[in-house]
Amino acid sequence: MSEATQQSPPAAKAAPTPAKKKERPDTPIYKFYDVKGGKLTRLRKECPRCGHGVFLAEHRDRLTCGKCGYTSYKKGQR
Ligand SMILES: [Zn+2]
Repeated sequence: MSEATQQSPPAAKAAPTPAKKKERPDTPIYKFYDVKGGKLTRLRKECPRCGHGVFLAEHRDRLTCGKCGYTSYKKGQR
């Protein structure tokens, strides 16, 4: 067993971060599902246009589909 800890590689600096175009929360798709006792529950509404597997992003007053641009306004928020 030998540990090479004496020589530190020159590439140990902070990795260069690629410039991002837009900052948006990248929510993993599995967070939209909830499995309890073998039963699958969808935590988000699905897009009526795109169908299953495409969820609507939740905003303060509306739900939007990032795929087709569908927007559904929440009721009773006035
Ligand atoms: Zn859609």
